[in-house]
Amino acid sequence: MNDIIKEITHKIRSNNNFIITTHVNPDGDAIGSELALARYLQSLGKNVTIINHSPTPDYLLFMLNSKDNILEFNEKLHSSLIGNADVIFTLDLSQLSRTKSLEDYVRKSNATKICIDHHPLPEDYAEINLVETTSSSTGELVYHLLKQTGTEITLDIALPLYVAIMTDTGSFKYERTTSNLHRIIAELLDSGVVPIKVHQEIYDQGSANRIQLLGRAFNSLVIAGDGKLAYMKISLNDLNETNSKEEDVEGFVSYTLSIKGVEVGLFFFELENGFKISLRSSDTVPVNKLAGEFNGGGHFFAAGARLENKNMEETLPQVIETAIKYINEYSQ
Ligand code: 5GP
Ligand code: MN
Repeated sequence: MNDIIKEITHKIRSNNNFIITTHVNPDGDAIGSELALARYLQSLGKNVTIINHSPTPDYLLFMLNSKDNILEFNEKLHSSLIGNADVIFTLDLSQLSRTKSLEDYVRKSNATKICIDHHPLPEDYAEINLVETTSSSTGELVYHLLKQTGTEITLDIALPLYVAIMTDTGSFKYERTTSNLHRIIAELLDSGVVPIKVHQEIYDQGSANRIQLLGRAFNSLVIAGDGKLAYMKISLNDLNETNSKEEDVEGFVSYTLSIKGVEVGLFFFELENGFKISLRSSDTVPVNKLAGEFNGGGHFFAAGARLENKNMEETLPQVIETAIKYINEYSQ
């Protein structure tokens, strides 16, 4: 990792125009890592613009201040920025297609592409890859990058890093939550992060509509595969009738694993032009492989797939069948 970080710091020192981007439907790790890296680059006097396909979800806006510049990609306004950049950082994504509308412009750009990520099987599109699948989060990798450059971890950097790590470790419980990670967290607290405040901003500011939507998801619960598979779904109709939006379903899938005996939990979410599956595993079934059957991917225990132009109700039985096949193959 040290040599790769040296290469990255050389690129940072010798260039001026930086773009940072991340995946569609960004989570706390995506936005937190972008903000920490952007603020570091700004502190060096660099031009830095964050451009994402999706808007920043409301529950993450509390991290932003007036100097942060996060743009929602607009082909007419921003494609030249991407084309003329010296360096493009792609954070928290293993396939460039996850940048959606930015993908073609990033591919075509002559900028040096630097990928910072912790997903397995990254696509080989970047000149420099800071990729560690043992890392809890992309935020943890950004932390190591900043530390190795001797950057002081002030609160404006500590806060987004804390959000990145907290959200991607399920509040410090997933398997990559190590004692070393807690030492990093200790340093972020020393910089002024107040855990309860961050937790409340992220998890306790939802709308009543969201709880009504959760009720609909609960009503849709099905247990299959001899009690080892649980799934729930939300249709566009559910979303519209409860006045909710896509970001409101964040976290719903985790309830499927709270049922005793369930080893694989799925959450189906209908989109305007297809649907999305969130997959979770409690133990031995690699849900990233299962997601791979539907062009998705992710981590062993948490994965996802977006199926475009497919009807959710029509395709669901096929997904369930494949999930049961995986359970039969991998469950012990
Ligand atoms: P979530 O279910 O929370 O949206 O996603 C869980 C994990 O699955 C994410 O951290 C990400 O690694 C991965 N993931 C989600 N959606 C996709 C997708 O469409 N394609 C790929 N390759 N990975 C995804
Ligand atoms: Mn992540």
